[in-house]
Amino acid sequence: SLNKLDRLVAELGDIPVVTDPKVVRRRSRDFFWYSPILNELLDGKSADLIVAPRDESDVIRVAAACARHRVPITVRAGGTGNYGQAVPLNGGVLLDISALTDIEWIKPGVLRVGAGAKMNAIDAETQAQGFELRMHPSTKRTATIGGFVAGGSGGIGSVTYGGLREHGNILAARVVTVEEKPRVIELRRDAAQKINRAYGTTGIITALEMPLAPSWKWIDVVVAFDDFMDAAAFGYEAALADGIVKKLLAPVTWPLPSYFGALKPHCPDGKSILIAMIAEPSLESFKALLGNRGTITLETPTDDSPGQVPLYEYTWNHTTLQVLKSDRSVTYLQCLYPHDRLLEKVAEMRELFPDEVLQHLEFIRFGGRVTCSGLPVVRFRDAHRLNEIISLHEQRGVYIANPHVYTVEDGSRYKRADADQLGFKQEVDPFGLLNPGKMRSFVSARA
Ligand code: FAD
Repeated sequence: SLNKLDRLVAELGDIPVVTDPKVVRRRSRDFFWYSPILNELLDGKSADLIVAPRDESDVIRVAAACARHRVPITVRAGGTGNYGQAVPLNGGVLLDISALTDIEWIKPGVLRVGAGAKMNAIDAETQAQGFELRMHPSTKRTATIGGFVAGGSGGIGSVTYGGLREHGNILAARVVTVEEKPRVIELRRDAAQKINRAYGTTGIITALEMPLAPSWKWIDVVVAFDDFMDAAAFGYEAALADGIVKKLLAPVTWPLPSYFGALKPHCPDGKSILIAMIAEPSLESFKALLGNRGTITLETPTDDSPGQVPLYEYTWNHTTLQVLKSDRSVTYLQCLYPHDRLLEKVAEMRELFPDEVLQHLEFIRFGGRVTCSGLPVVRFRDAHRLNEIISLHEQRGVYIANPHVYTVEDGSRYKRADADQLGFKQEVDPFGLLNPGKMRSFVSARA
């Protein structure tokens, strides 16, 4: 197999390649270590070499060479995924897509951009024209738009626009197939969902067309509450208040704020908080809605320029990271609450796991309804107890997207691959070379 890789490298010509095993092993990892379970399962998994295409024609050459030699190819962008999405299970090529950053064009409300562009770089360009991405993960400062679409789900902005899965949140994707003669396919409208959260198993995305939102001057706000349920109830009212323009509403239970490093001066002892991003012209209405139910402890313009720590880096999966910085014994879950019994279920889960599951909610729209995604911090005992906590949630109608598994199927709601994605994979990756093992129900008809 070494010979096979040597022949592959020789065919790549002037396309940059990294073979230093230390570098290759380090870049083959992502943030799967958040999960003690994945940390064991994925330990030591690595690519054999990194190939860094400079443009789409390089991507096509790499795809052709990998198909000819039957070498696996796993795309890596920012490497910030949480489930080992970008960790190659069977070696081969780690395709570093981060040079494909060109913005092809920006029009009012829409842009076309290289898949390797970082989301903060995209926003910096579009904000100059009064627009910004509708949503971004809390890893916006390091993650790419292609990695978000292929490995993520939603984030800051989803309180208004829902997740990436909603109709209209991905307008088009351009993908390169892994065949001896690769094709370039344009997926438009709902067909673009074939690459959404497929972990790069259904084609190499080279460009994306994404809808934009009007950009606002956002204000980072922290509100302290005596009781977590008050923070959740006010967050719900603010989420439902359509006249208040917001990008983020995240209730966080005490004691989680006690881990919040630089934010601690704004987190009074014993208080739960609501973290919010509110458009400046809506701030007055937001405060009027709040009344004297909570105390505003921070109010400052959002700043995510280099060197700054924006407030959103305490939300979504950054909440877990802030705690992990000083306590490596915790892990987390990803919940979806039922929209019609939201606060009731939040209170129920709270009573079920006092001190063991520390609640952190994210208000989102889901299928047009306002509800909460939850990323609670869990004090980890063992895998058995973690699975028990998951079933106890599900038995009571709180759905869990398990973040302790690495396949597309196990991480999905129905524990199976989307039929469209599975069928499309047969077309674009006939030999099963793209991130092998991640779409476990795929059986190649040709390999
Ligand atoms: P990578 O990790 O490099 O890749 C992710 C997946 O996409 C891999 O399977 C990879 O193979 C595939 N991929 C990447 N680029 C391409 C391409 N061009 N073509 C085909 N496949 C490709 N996620 C959220 O959705 N919301 C959040 O709020 C959020 N918060 C996070 C907070 C923290 C602290 C951490 C560590 C992670 C968080 N994540 C979140 C997960 C992750 O950061 C995001 O999904 C991010 O957008 C991934 O982008 P990336 O560039 O790092 O992708």
